[in-house]
Amino acid sequence: MPSASEKRIVMKFGGTSMAGIERIRHVAERVRAEANAGNQVAVVVSAMAGETDRLVQLCKEAAALYDPREYDVVVASGEQVTSGLLAMTLQGMGVNARSYMGWQLPIRASGHSAGLIDHIDAEVLEGVFAQGGIAVIPGFQGVTEAGDVATLGRGGSDTSAVALAVAAKADRCDIYTDVEGVFTTDPRIVPRARKLEAVTYEEMLELASVGAKVLQTRSVGLAMRYNMPLQVLSSFEDKPGTLIVGDDKIEEFNMERVLVTGIAHDKNEALVTLTGLPDKPGTVAAIFGPLAAANINVDMIIQAAPREGEKSELTFTVPKGSLAQAVAELDKLKDNGGFESMTTGTNVVKVSAVGVGMRSNAGIAAQMFHTLAERGINIRAISTSEIKVSVLVAEEYTELAVRVLHTAFGLDDKEANAGAAA
Ligand code: ASP
Ligand code: MG
Repeated sequence: MPSASEKRIVMKFGGTSMAGIERIRHVAERVRAEANAGNQVAVVVSAMAGETDRLVQLCKEAAALYDPREYDVVVASGEQVTSGLLAMTLQGMGVNARSYMGWQLPIRASGHSAGLIDHIDAEVLEGVFAQGGIAVIPGFQGVTEAGDVATLGRGGSDTSAVALAVAAKADRCDIYTDVEGVFTTDPRIVPRARKLEAVTYEEMLELASVGAKVLQTRSVGLAMRYNMPLQVLSSFEDKPGTLIVGDDKIEEFNMERVLVTGIAHDKNEALVTLTGLPDKPGTVAAIFGPLAAANINVDMIIQAAPREGEKSELTFTVPKGSLAQAVAELDKLKDNGGFESMTTGTNVVKVSAVGVGMRSNAGIAAQMFHTLAERGINIRAISTSEIKVSVLVAEEYTELAVRVLHTAFGLDDKEANAGAAA
């Protein structure tokens, strides 16, 4: 274990940070600096940006119905390359570093192609730490019970890093990426967006699930379960990023905790409206049952309550990529009298206000609806959770809706020049 002043830190570098020898050298310098500051460091790396896509494509070209075991052999190789390159770069700088593949630790995965991490043995890592060394570990990679190479699903290196941090009882897991941290909203839409000093795991999960994709959602869930502090920060700039911590720690960061932490948007939803549904028990179950069986995620749901005995209307959203399949499933029900007509739409966007502060405040949804109404933005569907209010609006209003909500909830950076690009 490190002494009191030292920390044990898992540093994870994403694909853009590892894209090419020049960048890997830069990563090595950051790793060395962290170690020179007296910390114990283990490193998890992604494949070079674009490499995993390339490897997946090769699999598809080789065999349309490829074997998941062989897919894993191919796609896990991107991370094997970058971990070896980083280890040799560090060695060239006089740092005691060595790569360890998933099977060498081992990182036990439940199965092929989108495996879950079952267990990580910390013994090898502890040995490296004890000798003052730095282990460089390929993300995304594990080993099955049978001893075969496995991968953890796209974007899985984040989860590898968090799982390693948990197994090694690290003080923190730092995720180095191509953004400076988590922002109050997309800075490309709102130049006055601010980098958040800290968010809670739950806020991060909501922000990620509504389109603010910085970390793989699974990795945040894992960090939350084990209360492992995360930090998202840029590998290109030497600035603190955003800390992701539990409710218990968030108070330390935000003295004046706001009600809404961030505004997210997601264009990945499609709208389905069914009319002429019989008003009797089981109608909605008969619609959503087959969709669930087809693995289609239904998100927002509105059912217009008819008067007793009248036909009702049902509106809901599904991921755009699942729309065709959803329509096919629903067509079967139409023929059986499940509903009378169906319309679909894809030019919609889901805009969400997220914040743990709204747990104890009732007015957020009303303020959100009011703000949008003032701008003449029509709301097509609504959904809420304890810490989130989401509305579905026409896609052409994306920028306007995000911008006015960002302002209405007091998130604009007062010091930033509104006209300046972020
Ligand atoms: N290289 C893998 C991917 O692109 C894993 C990762 O980078 O997180 O999905
Ligand atoms: Mg990633």
